[in-house]
Amino acid sequence: MKTLQLSSGKDDIRKAARIIKNGGLVAMPTETVYGLAADALNGEAVRKIFKAKGRPMDNPLIVHISDISQVYALVREFPEKAKILARKFWPGPLTMILPKSALIPDEVSAGLDTVAIRFPSHPAAQTLIAESCPLAAPSANLSGSPSPTTVQHVRDDMDGRIDAIIDGGDCDVGVESTVITLASNIPELLRPGGITFEQLREAIGEVIINGAVIKPLKSGEKAASPGMKYKHYSPKAEVVLIDGDNESFWEYINRNASQGEAVLCYDGDLGHLRLPCISVGKSDDYETQAHRLFTALRNADEIGLKRVYAHCPEKKGIGLAVYNRIIRAAGFNIIKL
Ligand code: AMP
Ligand code: MG
Repeated sequence: MKTLQLSSGKDDIRKAARIIKNGGLVAMPTETVYGLAADALNGEAVRKIFKAKGRPMDNPLIVHISDISQVYALVREFPEKAKILARKFWPGPLTMILPKSALIPDEVSAGLDTVAIRFPSHPAAQTLIAESCPLAAPSANLSGSPSPTTVQHVRDDMDGRIDAIIDGGDCDVGVESTVITLASNIPELLRPGGITFEQLREAIGEVIINGAVIKPLKSGEKAASPGMKYKHYSPKAEVVLIDGDNESFWEYINRNASQGEAVLCYDGDLGHLRLPCISVGKSDDYETQAHRLFTALRNADEIGLKRVYAHCPEKKGIGLAVYNRIIRAAGFNIIKL
């Protein structure tokens, strides 16, 4: 299939909207990562997303809207706490899990009784939705690999597999949206992202963090968010997370360094390590780390590394999202010093 390369000008977005209405697939920029979109209410179109990505059919998709009023047709209940979060954080990088209405095809919810909904802030995504319909969209990468944060990442993974790609520049946040469920008694954070745990707590009071956010699922344990059970965000290189203070980290790397290895680290590590370094920013600048993380992981493959040592991020603010992605990229392979 020839993949149409589109700009984020109005005429090109109208072309993309027509593709969507005809049941096709379009990669669209959002403020988190690029999404691979189809008409959310067309089960057959949605099935093509799973095929193009190689995504397991039991991993549900997020439905993207361009106006809060669109929620009502998609859910059975829109509880007060969800309304508070919508007013405060939409449009933006927050996804809410709510009881789904009969309109949502099983392909979108992967057979669950709930649906994930988000209102993105990227103007190109908003225009595409407004010109077509609510869009089901996971990240526009091949399943398992790091999410795309530039149009080139999308082309690398999806050229020839989908109908069109809209170029909207580099993604701002750089990690996927925060996912919170409001379909349980106590709101529960299922995936950390650009809206932090601290911000959610301040807005609605008690929020719990699902265990799978920072730990692997126990064998036989059911995932509250099916996406959390898979190895994810992984480059081809082996990723090893190293948890320790600066001095022990430097000492460990310099003692174990060998050919074909590099370090994913912070600015403060530069000059202390005997391996090539890919810095994701200052160790307390979590926004920049999130923004650069997936590009750094993709770079590791471009230079053909066999192993990447990652300096463990702090778990505060958006740092929790960075930690959550790195431990999955590392397949929970953590060395505590
Ligand atoms: P992606 O779009 O690839 O970033 O993945 C969407 C994430 O949201 C995955 O981790 C899904 O498991 C999660 N998700 C989507 N819908 C639901 C739902 N109804 N209940 C729980 N998690 C969901
Ligand atoms: Mg994804």
